[in-house]
Amino acid sequence: MPRTTGPSKTVLVVEDEAAIRAMLRVALEIADYGCIEAKDAYEAQAVLADALPDLVLLDWMLPEVSGIELLRRWRRRAETHDLPVIMLTAKAEEESMIRGLEAGADDYVPKPFSPRELLARIKTILRRVDAAPAEAPISLGGLVMDPAARAVTIGGQLLGLGPTEYRLLEFFLTHQGRAYTRGQLLDNVWGGKVRIDERTIDVHIRRLRKALAPHGYADCVQTVRGYGYRFGRDSSAA
Ligand code: CA
Repeated sequence: MPRTTGPSKTVLVVEDEAAIRAMLRVALEIADYGCIEAKDAYEAQAVLADALPDLVLLDWMLPEVSGIELLRRWRRRAETHDLPVIMLTAKAEEESMIRGLEAGADDYVPKPFSPRELLARIKTILRRVDAAPAEAPISLGGLVMDPAARAVTIGGQLLGLGPTEYRLLEFFLTHQGRAYTRGQLLDNVWGGKVRIDERTIDVHIRRLRKALAPHGYADCVQTVRGYGYRFGRDSSAA
């Protein structure tokens, strides 16, 4: 594939249906993304062993190793833990969406999708990844977020956070003590233009709490009944 000059981003498409791969390639290349194709988990692994793409479009229904199983494997490994992944699937049920997000997907797009909508989601996620501002570390007790390193530690131990959980925690740390509705969190953390279900937030909140729990910080993410969420250390806030 002839690559354009300049810093165009590369998207790996893992999809067993050749027609969908071809459609995605056209859409991606028009939008100036590089496109690498893989028709199954094995091809995808071979690509990743070579170089990490900027983002992966991952089909749920793949032969042999499913997309969701592949995603779980990636999230368990340090090299691919933070790889931005959008799941593509014909399974439009909410249950599947939640399973996909719980497995570590950054976003979820049910088939059939419009290439335009998909490109908007890709752009949003890549912008989120790129938006790492080189600011001073933010801390709360033993929890330290270092935006320059894009790393979070608690008592010196590195926290494994997906890109969305990182952004969520970053927002919470910089807006401590105030309650936010799910809609406000969507606007601030996901960007107002993305139309995603507000329940998606609950999934990411659960993931964030799970990551904080072993260090005794899960309670910092407080549920405000009938409203949304608040972040802070003080127990009186509950
Ligand atoms: Ca498929």
